[in-house]
Amino acid sequence: MAALTSQLENAGRLVIKIGSAMLVNADGSLRRTWVEGLARDIAEARARGTQVLLVSSGAIALGRRRLGLGRTRLKLEESQAAAAVGQIALAQGWQAALADHDLVSAQVLLTLTDTEVRRRYLNARATLNTLLARGAVPVINENDTVATSEIRYGDNDRLAARVSSMMSATCLVLLSDVDGLYTAPPDTDGAEFVAQVDEITPDIVAMAGAPVSGMGSGGMITKIEAARIATSAGASMVITSGHEDRPLTRVLNGSRATWFRSAATPATARKRWIAGSLEPAGRLIVDDGAAIALGKGRSLLPAGVRQVTGRFSRGDTVAITTQNGREIARGLSAYDASDAEIIAGRKSSEIEALLGLAGRDEMVHRDDLVMTGKDTA
Ligand code: GLU
Repeated sequence: MAALTSQLENAGRLVIKIGSAMLVNADGSLRRTWVEGLARDIAEARARGTQVLLVSSGAIALGRRRLGLGRTRLKLEESQAAAAVGQIALAQGWQAALADHDLVSAQVLLTLTDTEVRRRYLNARATLNTLLARGAVPVINENDTVATSEIRYGDNDRLAARVSSMMSATCLVLLSDVDGLYTAPPDTDGAEFVAQVDEITPDIVAMAGAPVSGMGSGGMITKIEAARIATSAGASMVITSGHEDRPLTRVLNGSRATWFRSAATPATARKRWIAGSLEPAGRLIVDDGAAIALGKGRSLLPAGVRQVTGRFSRGDTVAITTQNGREIARGLSAYDASDAEIIAGRKSSEIEALLGLAGRDEMVHRDDLVMTGKDTA
């Protein structure tokens, strides 16, 4: 277990998903003491050097009472209206609790297209990276008020896993009203607790059974789905009960939790994904100097690019080839094909003057690049 808790203790980037049931009292008010406890846990994680992103549910649960909507099932437009009201209270609660530890919080409301459509994904990621680099704690939720049923994540387990993958997090914690995975529903005879999952097999999926949770929308099935997304992107995921105060400290002290281990790191998972991605949309033909530099693990600078072929957008996969046509690497281009053509062969310091905007110094950053040629690795 110690080896697993160190994944949380030493996480470079941590996503914490908080279910509605953790946040809201029976009378519809915010569980302030609990929120303050988690803020303290977050401050301690930050002091250990961990960057933290929160994916916080609770908008609908906090908003419905304030709008005079009872305990009955809400219509779609009622829950969207409740979310609009509750999101303010939710953001305010986090802001106050984090500010007590001199942490700046930032509200980020995402819709499904923000993680699934390339252009929006790149923008969302850049914004979140900027917030983290400036020391802020993003507090993320689905933009429930505008998301329509066809384009929803629908549950924050999935949203948190997508965020975890998008941000190359190393650890994802799901705080919910279940303390982990059992071989059968926890109240049945012979149900055994599962402390560690190394691979999500059909048996594991079968254990998840039917949705169980009361207030939120995700059950164990969605948590397993989240584990699949997070672990394949290189993050370890842990499910633990969030009911008691200071849940992260509790996990670090060995409280009950199910760990889903990732066999990869975010960097290797990303590289595997790039290497295995679909047919490259274009080619960057590079000179010998650049080919040698890539072999040494460096980024591809515009100066080393001789020719650009194909039509591709920023973020698309391109093949990097030598002048005699041999593919040596694949990577994600930091520029559209038309801009890449303009800056090919030029110094990075000229990019701003050539394109009229300050772009990245690298055509393909080494984090986004994987060597594919056999004799150049
Ligand atoms: N986004 C919803 C809310 O803030 C919660 C979704 C979920 O329960 O997973 O109320």
